[in-house]
Amino acid sequence: MLEPRNRDARTVLGKTGIEVCRMGFGGIPIQRLSFPEAEKLIAAALDAGIDFFDTSRIYTDSEAKLGRALAGRRDRAVIASKSYSRDAARARADLESSLGELKTDHVDIYQLHNVSTEADLERVLGSGGALEALDRAREQGLVRFIGITGHKPWILEKALQAYDFATIQVPVNIVEQSSLDKLIPYARARDIGIIAMKPVAGGALKNVKLNLRFILASGVDVAIPGMDAIEQVHENLSVLNAPLLLSIQERQILDNEKESLGDHFCRRCEYCMPCPEGLNIPLLHLMEGYYFRYNLKDWALERLADMAKTFSDCTACGVCVSRCPYELDMPGLFQSAAARIAADRKTRQA
Ligand code: SF4
Ligand code: SF4
Repeated sequence: MLEPRNRDARTVLGKTGIEVCRMGFGGIPIQRLSFPEAEKLIAAALDAGIDFFDTSRIYTDSEAKLGRALAGRRDRAVIASKSYSRDAARARADLESSLGELKTDHVDIYQLHNVSTEADLERVLGSGGALEALDRAREQGLVRFIGITGHKPWILEKALQAYDFATIQVPVNIVEQSSLDKLIPYARARDIGIIAMKPVAGGALKNVKLNLRFILASGVDVAIPGMDAIEQVHENLSVLNAPLLLSIQERQILDNEKESLGDHFCRRCEYCMPCPEGLNIPLLHLMEGYYFRYNLKDWALERLADMAKTFSDCTACGVCVSRCPYELDMPGLFQSAAARIAADRKTRQA
């Protein structure tokens, strides 16, 4: 079990009164694991002291893997899941599916997933909207608390003004600090639990421990790095035994990383998927990053050669662009990636 040497290792999630380890478990990467691998990983996380598990109806089999791994130990875990549905009937159907997959009679925190426009917000809060279904489910004991997630702080602020959500979930890391000035202090003042998603920006940030310390020192309650290996569980948890405040030199390392990334990059959230043409969009972005940012050129080229569809197969249909919360322009970015890689190869061969 985690030794709470640092008294900040655990926290109470705002008005929910639920106490959790500040290092949570993000449920996206377990989609890549087999069921036995995921079960082993989740069991190891639970044994090591992680007790907050975040998943979603749209993370394919993530809920099912969590449900199987937590069977018999449900009472030791706090489960947060989400519905992307905007109307009450579909949100209710999602919740029932979540309960089935998670093999539980209640979800601790059920969240409205990625509410990212004013129209979205009006839809979920309005008559016949998803919130109605979640309110009813809470009265029935199927959901203990209702939360909301999103990538735009001003939309979440409006949401908190309109409804008494118990938690918010928002991206926080060295390159995504837009919630730190207003949203997070506002939520703290109202005793709302704050969950930091994308703590390493979907794997784009390499200084994992420094980033986790930066996030946990920034006023959030829990960070939920995605994990797909047992070593990551221990590495992430070790952060709780270090001082959270960064030294000037450590902060400089993160600032340099931020500068090298810019803010126009893929966070691997997979909201853009599936691509009708079969492109693995986040993987293509990752390969471009490996090629240019990390200079693993031959390695990236080998992976690209193994992929059935690559940059040039994008037909610019625009489906993914409308789904991406960061408004990335895949057709333009992929065209530019293909051209830059081709030019670089030519230069290397010359
Ligand atoms: S392209 Fe956008 S939606 Fe797709 S994984 Fe990257 S950040 Fe997420
Ligand atoms: S714009 Fe390109 S990458 Fe995006 S969904 Fe269409 S074909 Fe796929």
